[in-house]
Amino acid sequence: MQPSLTRRIYLSPHLDDAVLSCGGTIYAQAQRGERVLVVTAFAGSPANHDLTPFTRELWERWGAADDPVAARRAEDLAALTRLGAQALHLSHLDCVYRQHPATGAPLYPTVEDIFAEVHPAEASLAGALCKELGHLLAAPVRPTVYAPLAAGHHVDHQIVRQMAMRLVDAGVTVLFYEDWPYAEDDETIARALDDGGRCWRRQTLPLSAEALVAKGDAVAYYASQISTFWSSTEEMRRALRAHAETAGGTGLGEGYWTVSPPPEASPTIERRP
Ligand SMILES: [Zn+2]
Repeated sequence: MQPSLTRRIYLSPHLDDAVLSCGGTIYAQAQRGERVLVVTAFAGSPANHDLTPFTRELWERWGAADDPVAARRAEDLAALTRLGAQALHLSHLDCVYRQHPATGAPLYPTVEDIFAEVHPAEASLAGALCKELGHLLAAPVRPTVYAPLAAGHHVDHQIVRQMAMRLVDAGVTVLFYEDWPYAEDDETIARALDDGGRCWRRQTLPLSAEALVAKGDAVAYYASQISTFWSSTEEMRRALRAHAETAGGTGLGEGYWTVSPPPEASPTIERRP
């Protein structure tokens, strides 16, 4: 097959988000010969192991020994290889490890903090991420970018969404994906769309049965994460199919949203049919 010049860049807050939400579309694009890159923002390993009680509990739950993030990076490479995409892992730390630059205090010490607002100390992080990826977005062949809607309101997802909004305002084509499994219901998605006056429009990208199988195979590589959401790989695959049926409407699909440039008119939301 003649390689396509079309470029796709998926912005993934964590090592699994893009595949969980977009794995079928990624597979279909790669099958068409398009160049697909998944950039994971918060993929860095913490520098030392002086864990807080919270992060120690997480490590124990993940059954991880020395460096659970390294294990997750390896899982991500295997998953993206299955889909035919390439990986870029940025070295920013997951929010559970991030500390206040002045005091060293954890910025997000509890689960409630992780799903609250982005800490003021990180107000410039979205802009810094934009700069870091600037070379990928440059001409001659501008990519289409896929970014999280931040349904579920995880702070790391919010930061990547803020970054993507900057790209929208700079004229980059961005499709926002429904963060799965957070985005399981319309209410959670509606809350993510309610951001002060932008007009959102939903589109469904249809999936073939083959693409859904590939997505399930890829998600299965994230072994350390599956137990957080499902009791088994089989249950994950059933949930994946049920979600693809709901998101697809008349067939299997994944849901994506485009957004207007900055608000000038009154807010409108075009909801799913
Ligand atoms: Zn995530």
